[in-house]
Amino acid sequence: MEIKCDCGYVAKGSDPHKVEAETWHHALKTHEDMLKKMGVEQLARVLKNNHQSLGLTK
Ligand SMILES: [Zn+2]
Repeated sequence: MEIKCDCGYVAKGSDPHKVEAETWHHALKTHEDMLKKMGVEQLARVLKNNHQSLGLTK
């Protein structure tokens, strides 16, 4: 399973929690300013997309 970032970065692995953590780790380091500007609704959309990519939600 994998999650792709808009910038082209790809987090991959067999543990969905680790893949998600890697995605956030990347985003916090690389897209800090963007994350700070995001509202709750936007973050919820990101989480939903991530979870769909990982097959954690329908
Ligand atoms: Zn990125």
